[in-house]
Amino acid sequence: MTQPEKPVQDPWLLTPGPLTTSRTVKEAMLHDYGSRDLRFIEINRRVRERLVEIIDGQGTHVCVPLQGSGTFVVEAMLSNFVPRSGKVLILVNGAYGTRMQSICAYHGIDSEVLQWPEDEPVDPNKVAERLAGAPGITHVAVVHCETTTGILNPIEDVGEAVAAAGRSLLIDSMSAFGALSISARNIQFDALVASSNKCLEGAPGMGFCLASEPALTATQGNSDSLCLDLYQQWQGLEANGQWRFTPPTHCILAFDQALKEFDAEGAVAGRGGRYRENCEALVSGMRAMGFETLLPDALQAPIIVTFKMPVDSRFDFQRFYDGLSECGYVIYPGKLTIAESFRMGCIGRLGVTEMRGALEAVRVVMDEMGVASGSPVA
Ligand SMILES: *Cc1c(COP(=O)(O)O)cnc(C)c1O
Repeated sequence: MTQPEKPVQDPWLLTPGPLTTSRTVKEAMLHDYGSRDLRFIEINRRVRERLVEIIDGQGTHVCVPLQGSGTFVVEAMLSNFVPRSGKVLILVNGAYGTRMQSICAYHGIDSEVLQWPEDEPVDPNKVAERLAGAPGITHVAVVHCETTTGILNPIEDVGEAVAAAGRSLLIDSMSAFGALSISARNIQFDALVASSNKCLEGAPGMGFCLASEPALTATQGNSDSLCLDLYQQWQGLEANGQWRFTPPTHCILAFDQALKEFDAEGAVAGRGGRYRENCEALVSGMRAMGFETLLPDALQAPIIVTFKMPVDSRFDFQRFYDGLSECGYVIYPGKLTIAESFRMGCIGRLGVTEMRGALEAVRVVMDEMGVASGSPVA
């Protein structure tokens, strides 16, 4: 037996995921349930039902959970919903749109890309225009909040353009789901995917697909992967309440608790409201130290904020990152092609107190480096 470690405070994760979770979410994992345990089957039912309610999808949509990180379920969505005879138009304004392109390339899914710069939202008019000129396109895939920058894409308007053209919509709402409202009554989509560990504040380990029931039914036989076959996963769950292969039991127990805490906080309005406060505290505090956001406030989702790299030659990003880590705050490097940047998240079990703590740590580390201002212009 090893000696028990001295308890240390976990770092606060100001990242796009995995994220800081509550103690009670972590404690929910202190059980070993078998996959056939009736309590566990009931929890699965409850979690799936609640996820459908979040999009107002009762009676029209179903929830298919899938083992793995979020990308697994994005891959499952694209490879199941776009039939071999179909073609998908992918709207790209960041790395997660580009990742959908790679998924299509791996699976030999016929695809085409409409691209915007990373600091511009996708344009529904351009989508309508392209669909009018390309009758072979059957599906459109869009990212709700492009986590690369934190930009919010106008998915309701995209949905209108896609529905008006009689095509099907697939949504990656991974980093927005639970914080930004999305209703199946206002936006027509075949499938939407998200995961347990972002704005719903569960532990990582599973994604889920919320699918229109007729659209999911029509995917039977489409999957070119056994593990990612959403239709079969759904049929298995409907038949006996069990997952086809070993379920991430602890992750689901944590997710069930996370959904209770989500409801206690006031669901999407409450969760989104806290993140908005976090985002405002972060952005105003950083601006007061000279930093600039990549995006204007009107395009910024309250999920993760991209800051431009300061110009002061004494500013060393690695030192900045390490210094913040030592103070207990983990930030995230940028992933941009258009500008040097870094990111700070507003999501997870964090409040304004933690955001102020992070701002204080930024000040301390800047002082240590001898950097007076975070301004990106000389
Ligand atoms: C986090 C995220 C994903 C999935 O990423 P994983 O690392 O596989 O969990 C997909 N799309 C978006 C927009 C995301 O933010």
